[in-house]
Amino acid sequence: MPEEYDYDLVVVGGGPAGSSAAFAAAKNGIKVALIEKENSIAETVRTSGVTWIESIKEFGIPDNCYNPIKNFSFVSPNNEVTISDSIATAAVLDVRKTYRWLANEAEETGADIFLKININEVIKNENNDIVGVKGTGPKGEIIFHSKIVIDATGFTSVISKAMGFVTQWKRFGAGAEYEAIVENSDPDTWWLMVGQEYTPAGYAWIFPLGNNIVRIGVGVGKPESDIDPTQRLKEIIEKQLGPIKKLGKITPIEFHYGLIPNDGLSRKTVFNNLILVGDSAGQANPLVLEGIRYAIRFGRVAGKVASDAIKNKKTDKDALYPYEENWRNAIETKINSAGKVQDRWIGLSDKEWDKELDIINELKTDEFLDFIKADFGLSNMLKLAMNHPKLAVRQLFNLVKGK
Ligand SMILES: Cc1cc2nc3c(=O)[nH]c(=O)nc-3n(C[C@H](O)[C@H](O)[C@H](O)COP(=O)(O)OP(=O)(O)OC[C@H]3O[C@@H](n4cnc5c(N)ncnc54)[C@H](O)[C@@H]3O)c2cc1C
Repeated sequence: MPEEYDYDLVVVGGGPAGSSAAFAAAKNGIKVALIEKENSIAETVRTSGVTWIESIKEFGIPDNCYNPIKNFSFVSPNNEVTISDSIATAAVLDVRKTYRWLANEAEETGADIFLKININEVIKNENNDIVGVKGTGPKGEIIFHSKIVIDATGFTSVISKAMGFVTQWKRFGAGAEYEAIVENSDPDTWWLMVGQEYTPAGYAWIFPLGNNIVRIGVGVGKPESDIDPTQRLKEIIEKQLGPIKKLGKITPIEFHYGLIPNDGLSRKTVFNNLILVGDSAGQANPLVLEGIRYAIRFGRVAGKVASDAIKNKKTDKDALYPYEENWRNAIETKINSAGKVQDRWIGLSDKEWDKELDIINELKTDEFLDFIKADFGLSNMLKLAMNHPKLAVRQLFNLVKGK
């Protein structure tokens, strides 16, 4: 006999989106299961973990979970730019610690966490709506019945695929990185490295964690390039390209690899009894392939909307729509604008990158931060597109506002 459980809400996937949804739903007083296939939360790290201190504070993530960043350095084949802030605005997360803190918040609020359960099937009612999931765990088959399921399985979108609602992402980013101990590292400064030798579509990076630990990585846009990011990462380390040379001896301690959707906000994210959140919903900024703060923020919204719907005994797609409305209002125009800049960046030659860095150098710190965060408030963009003293900057921001 399979193990069998009844919950109000089942959240599949114990990443930042799933843990945050489970936390908000449990806080709202319903019975929640959070299911993760790995042996522990964040057993495998698939991300570089850069985010923003403003969001960290909003979510209540503890101070010992991140290294603050003040200086943003860019290097292209023949140019280098550093934009500095007086206070730290960005951060590199200790990903494992942060994701475990998020799951722990859910558990302390009342959610039950199930580990080592690989969900591979959906249970449907007579109307073909989802009413639970099935999987395999250490004791064999396991079944969860629920009123709503949240698909927080990340890139693979296991539940939505099993329902036949989505197919594999066609455009995505693939990234490989080493977490490494190095001889020299400035803990306040991140490096983004662009140009053909680093990667033909995307960027490479050095993100410091403090204590001479850094993450060195390469991202490659697919299908734009067929380069293997792991191979390219090994090559740029071996060649000691650009700022990598300054790190001195590099001793890798962990390897990370991951995929991130880059198909725009193309998916519907609510169906009868089902919500998609985080990477399974495609909630990522394509410019720098950033998704953690969206996964947490909209995970919480998903958990709240789902639990309200369960309490009101109405869990169809209309009852869940406030979730989709919330996240679209918050990020849709910003992500679309970021997509336009990405389209420009993905085609740049080395020479053009050298010039693009000159444009970035013209931005004031707060303009740069809004830009890299895809925080394109329309009035701000209009102002920059009309009034910036440099023509090249005006052109860049005209692109963002869609002219
Ligand atoms: C190389 C790379 C670098 C990145 N760098 C950054 C960055 O610097 N900053 C940033 O903000 N974002 C970054 N991102 C994006 C960020 O990692 C994602 O947007 C974020 O992790 C999305 O969270 P999520 O909870 O939706 O999915 P995930 O973090 O992928 O979590 C999904 C969880 O579901 C579990 N799961 C999957 N299938 C099943 C199943 N069948 N049964 C049970 N459990 C299952 C997985 O094990 C996993 O724990 C990066 C991505 C990549 C690939």
